[in-house]
Amino acid sequence: MTGITDHSANDDAADDVATRLAKVKARVRDALRRAGRPDDDATIVAVSKRQPAEAVQAAYLAGQRHFGESYVQEALPKLERLESLGAEWHFIGRIQSNKTRSIAERFDWVHTLERPGIAHRLGSQRPAYAPPLNVLLQVSLAGESQKGGVRPEELRALADAVLGEPRLSLRGLMTIPPADLDTDSARRYFAQLQTLFRELADGGYELDTLSMGMSADFELALEQGSNCVRVGTAIFGARD
Ligand SMILES: *Cc1c(COP(=O)(O)O)cnc(C)c1O
Repeated sequence: MTGITDHSANDDAADDVATRLAKVKARVRDALRRAGRPDDDATIVAVSKRQPAEAVQAAYLAGQRHFGESYVQEALPKLERLESLGAEWHFIGRIQSNKTRSIAERFDWVHTLERPGIAHRLGSQRPAYAPPLNVLLQVSLAGESQKGGVRPEELRALADAVLGEPRLSLRGLMTIPPADLDTDSARRYFAQLQTLFRELADGGYELDTLSMGMSADFELALEQGSNCVRVGTAIFGARD
């Protein structure tokens, strides 16, 4: 790629990404087997925020197809540079209303919808040439609010707002547990989201995606029904 002169260092970095990705895939597969689920029952979103385009390229060459970004400003040039790959891009950061157009135009998925007004903006800004934008509702459980997300009692209203937008496709739920939870509390937290997911599905909402689990806790999340894990450092190493 342009501007890279130190080929050997770059090749080493690519090998590292491929090795770590293979390990994460094996751990996901093992966790799914322990839960009695098929090997391909979960999507891995490789979180490439604050990682260079070269790292995404290396993961892509190793077979990775889904990538996650948290900051619109940082993501746009990266997505443009990597456009020819045809990867699937997931927006997983806080959504500012002045950035919805870029998200609607450039991304395939949004994991972090928490307000009806943002649903309306994304729906009206999604270009006609693109398929509907896949949307997950970010849920905040137990009153914890520092990471954002809709409270369970407001979930149906938000789901209905998405269903009212023909250019959006409601796909499921997402959560980020508070960082300081011990293993048992994190397990309960994930279990609670799985329960909410099932309640919505039983209530007639067609959902197929439960996005839970990051580098530190994806096995725990898979154990509690996650079928979409968002893994950054375990694949790419420490961020810049
Ligand atoms: C950064 C981020 C991740 C990945 O975190 P790691 O600990 O590096 O795996 C996953 N989900 C969200 C929402 C993030 O912001």
